[in-house]
Amino acid sequence: MSSLALTAVIALSVSVSFAQTARATPLHTPSTSGSSVDEAGVTDPPDADAAGGGSAKGTVPSVAASDPRAAGPEISFILPRPFPFVMNPEIEPGKRFVIEVVPITFGVAMQDRLRALLHAEMTKYPSGTLGAVQLILIGSQVRFNTRSVGGIHFLGMVFIAVGDGEATEEGDAHFTRAFHHETAHALFQFHQSRFDAARFRAALPDGFAYADEQPGAQPPAEVAFDPRQDQPSLDLLRDGFLVPWAKDRMEEDFASYAEVLMRDPRLLLDTFAPDSRVGRKARVVRDFYIAIDPRFAAFFEKGPAPHATPQAPER
Ligand SMILES: [Zn+2]
Repeated sequence: MSSLALTAVIALSVSVSFAQTARATPLHTPSTSGSSVDEAGVTDPPDADAAGGGSAKGTVPSVAASDPRAAGPEISFILPRPFPFVMNPEIEPGKRFVIEVVPITFGVAMQDRLRALLHAEMTKYPSGTLGAVQLILIGSQVRFNTRSVGGIHFLGMVFIAVGDGEATEEGDAHFTRAFHHETAHALFQFHQSRFDAARFRAALPDGFAYADEQPGAQPPAEVAFDPRQDQPSLDLLRDGFLVPWAKDRMEEDFASYAEVLMRDPRLLLDTFAPDSRVGRKARVVRDFYIAIDPRFAAFFEKGPAPHATPQAPER
């Protein structure tokens, strides 16, 4: 479905049904269909790499030449509207999967500021590599099955909750972090074969199992994101986890590294010894991006270009 058609569907705020191969990865919320989601990502689309645009050979993907998406995904703000924004696709019969986006409450100047912030972050991705993300939808709040979440990735759409959009360090950090986190999920699903899961898992503590892989694991509860769950600790770091929720699923563990690496690649690569658990996992995630497109190597080597981290304009 073209992003234009997608936008039209969304504008009507109707319930949309997608095929059962639909893939979804909410931020800090569990997969609703367990491993089948991941399997869909593996077996899915032969065109995944073409859509993702990356090439291990470093050739410029064809998508870059004529497709405006090469410049980055479309960014849309959910504006106040007569009907609520709700997506209610049938992922699996009997399973609830409802995404709601609360409209923004701020004006054009704030939208421009956030747009510029995102465009600056997008420059970290070599042209064409963001093809896995077609559309970024921004609202004041995002709810998944009525619970508030920071962001969700769903079928190439990234939803980000931005609150009142005020230019605060914390707010901007959340915003850019959510973008990289959800984009990481999108890239993972499109390029899963390029992720060296065995090497990543080799850095896990002995006997460790992610919550969703433990024997008899129930589908994780759809819990609201608890800020206390975002606190790193020395114990966690020693075990190779950046945040508590990284223990839920390997994909979240991966995304917790990706969001940090894409904001400041040297933070993990310089701070943690290459043979530490964190150092090892950070390098697997770095190498995943480089396997998608070797042009990522320069970013991880030098960190963001100066223009990629502009100061928010004072208002
Ligand atoms: Zn996530």
